[in-house]
Amino acid sequence: MHVAKVIVDVPAGQIDHSFDYLIPQEWEDIIVPGIRVIVPFGPRKIQGIVVDTYMKTEETEFKLKAIDEPMDVTPVLTPELLQLANQLSEETLCFHIAALQVMLPAAMKAKYKKKVVLKSEPIPPEFLPLFQKGNIVSWEKAMELNLVPTLQRKARAKEIDFEIIYEVKEKNRKKVIKHVCLNIDRKMVDNEIDKLPPQAGKQKELLEILKNQQESIPIPELTKDYGISTATIRSLADKGIVKHLDVEVYRNPFEHKEFKRTEPLPLTAEQQKAIIPILKSVEEQSYESFLLYGVTGSGKTEVYLQTIQEVLKKGQEAIVLVPEISLTPQMVDRFKGRFGDQVAVLHSGLSIGEKYDEWRKIHRKEVKVVVGARSAIFAPFENLGVIIIDEEHESSYKQEENPKYHARDVAKLRGAYHQCPVILGSATPSLESFARAQKGVYTLLELSRRMNDRDLPSVEIVDMREELRSGNRSMFSTKLVELLQNRMEKKEQSVLFLNKRGYSSFVMCRDCGYVMNCPNCDLSMTYHRASSEMKCHYCDYRALVPTTCPECTSTYIRYFGTGTQKVEEEIARLFPEARVIRMDVDTTGRKGAHEKLLSAFERGEADILLGTQMIAKGLDFPNITLVGVLSADTMLHLPDFRASEKTFQLLTQVSGRAGRHEKPGEVVIQTYTPEHYSIELSGSQDYLAFYQKEMITRKQFQYPPFYYLTLINISHEEVMKAASIAENITSYLEKNLSSSSIILGPVASPIARINNRYRYQCLVKYKREPELTKHLKKIVHQFQEDKRNNGVYVSVDVQPYVLM
Ligand code: ADP
Ligand code: ZN
Ligand code: ZN
Repeated sequence: MHVAKVIVDVPAGQIDHSFDYLIPQEWEDIIVPGIRVIVPFGPRKIQGIVVDTYMKTEETEFKLKAIDEPMDVTPVLTPELLQLANQLSEETLCFHIAALQVMLPAAMKAKYKKKVVLKSEPIPPEFLPLFQKGNIVSWEKAMELNLVPTLQRKARAKEIDFEIIYEVKEKNRKKVIKHVCLNIDRKMVDNEIDKLPPQAGKQKELLEILKNQQESIPIPELTKDYGISTATIRSLADKGIVKHLDVEVYRNPFEHKEFKRTEPLPLTAEQQKAIIPILKSVEEQSYESFLLYGVTGSGKTEVYLQTIQEVLKKGQEAIVLVPEISLTPQMVDRFKGRFGDQVAVLHSGLSIGEKYDEWRKIHRKEVKVVVGARSAIFAPFENLGVIIIDEEHESSYKQEENPKYHARDVAKLRGAYHQCPVILGSATPSLESFARAQKGVYTLLELSRRMNDRDLPSVEIVDMREELRSGNRSMFSTKLVELLQNRMEKKEQSVLFLNKRGYSSFVMCRDCGYVMNCPNCDLSMTYHRASSEMKCHYCDYRALVPTTCPECTSTYIRYFGTGTQKVEEEIARLFPEARVIRMDVDTTGRKGAHEKLLSAFERGEADILLGTQMIAKGLDFPNITLVGVLSADTMLHLPDFRASEKTFQLLTQVSGRAGRHEKPGEVVIQTYTPEHYSIELSGSQDYLAFYQKEMITRKQFQYPPFYYLTLINISHEEVMKAASIAENITSYLEKNLSSSSIILGPVASPIARINNRYRYQCLVKYKREPELTKHLKKIVHQFQEDKRNNGVYVSVDVQPYVLM
């Protein structure tokens, strides 16, 4: 008997393992690992994914239930990805089914209409009853006629080509184009033309066209190029001379765009030095991780492109991850420009159907390169030659919901499997990565100079405390106003960057920049309006809200934060004639809005681009010569141990937006704490100095990369319940973990309540804790299974990026 091990789509602790099902004989060829199936489960029919198959001898005691039917005819997950899902669910403590599903396009998860498409001609006689009306029929019909196994057998013997597709209903999107082709032997065409009456000129013309055409012709083309109406086609179809044909097309999000082909540039000596070890690893097919550390504009992307070129030459494939936010058309153009149709693009701006199409190109091996955001790391390539993660320090590579994976970790697993290089690129590498490169775990490659030795923009740090002292209470310093004015006169463009305040509020002295920090954790404390006190969200240290500054006794100490709208009003007041484009969550909500606003700015339709984080990356317009950062401090004082790192990265990145081309750029950074190293060093763009300084702090306060972290979140509708369970979990960990680990908490989470659920958290810092996963699993399971804890939700985040 053939038996399949199936992971069923029921996310629950006690069901998080595979179940055995009998494979019905007729499906034996089709049901293999990686195929999705419908199986009986209790009284229901549910979906599942086959992860393994094996032979079982007859003497089974209790009869196995049989699989109802397959949902695919070719595996949607490769053996590698099935194995990767095991590792993911183990390492991130998520359900197996969640790890499998994260690798599949959304179109497959929802209930969409499934169709069988016959892609080859002619139709073999046994399938005529199925494809009577056309080459696309419903899955149900194919099942009803019991033809799927035969289709699959023929396809495997390469006698026909067919595919299962998901029809995603989308407005204004065509997926199938109607074509016309001959329905009679080509030799008979002249004969038919002669038979037509003289007034049927258009019909004759159509037959002439079809006679000379090997393939079918799209109807829109006939109408547009030859002026042939649908009525003409219909009358020939009625006579049985021509027939309609549905030809499926990919929804191409870049349809209306021409890509200028680019050629590889001769590499500079530095680029050459960096690419040699990478190409060696490609050549030898050995797994190695590289950290390509190079300032913006130093030519990293060109190194990626030429590496991919070698990989393609070997017949292998490449995955390139870029942060969602920098998946701008500009970035995509560079890959499409070099590799044309061999590139698939995956980003969240695509509709479900578009994403599915791109995924399918990968699955059918029609493309060799995928450029995409985080989830593109799961591209179902089977012969990977390189994985590239650009801007590797970006926190968007970490998924915040289950499975809480980091794309970098997945890249390393896949790199090891395929024995290929993994390249992490950044101008401001994460501390973790740079530390690994220092230790030799990664090979460090450096690009120290900008192309053509173009200067980095000059950065001026403006002390806002001084501004206040000299009577300027506006959010714009005198210097920034002056430079903005100057740019408007010169008809050059400016970018104003407002660091988003985030969720929390901190209290700062506007006279001296003092911010209250927790003495234990070196984090800024958060102001709580309700209790009117300051709290540390790692260790729960509390203090009173100061009314005067403890440093300078000023009374200008208060809650801090500004929105983009307020800034826009202020710009209108200062420069009534300025044309401003505002980019924030409010103005970029709609699909395509982001791109539209950017290209309007590129066309010079505005003088000032005002925005939050989302404008920090990827902007590369020649006319931008001024970048202003309105308040560099807001991110610095988030209650997050990475606050300094994020501030440094962001400021460096924002500064990189100015003067990327011929015109030199200037940057103004406004701050109340100019002496803070992450602000001071971003002025000189000195990453190494920043790294050394920050490592000292991380060591002193026991943070990564010196310690690993795991965050446990507990939530419940009743505050007491949440608190007491958090208490239990903490003491369980205290009892079971080694004494070298540090357990902080439980404390109320920085976001203390979401959707009326109270949230508590507990943070574990550890260096080596081999049993931790085991204990965490136990915790997670207990709260899933224990009915008395109904309503409790416990989530675990291993190596968290968001500590709220
Ligand atoms: P990064 O990815 O490090 O920001 P890019 O690869 O985008 O840097 O390079 C910056 C600019 O320099 C681009 O306009 C690119 O076309 C150009 N460039 C890169 N490499 C070379 C080269 N070897 N010769 C000439 N120009 C180059
Ligand atoms: Zn002060
Ligand atoms: Zn603290």
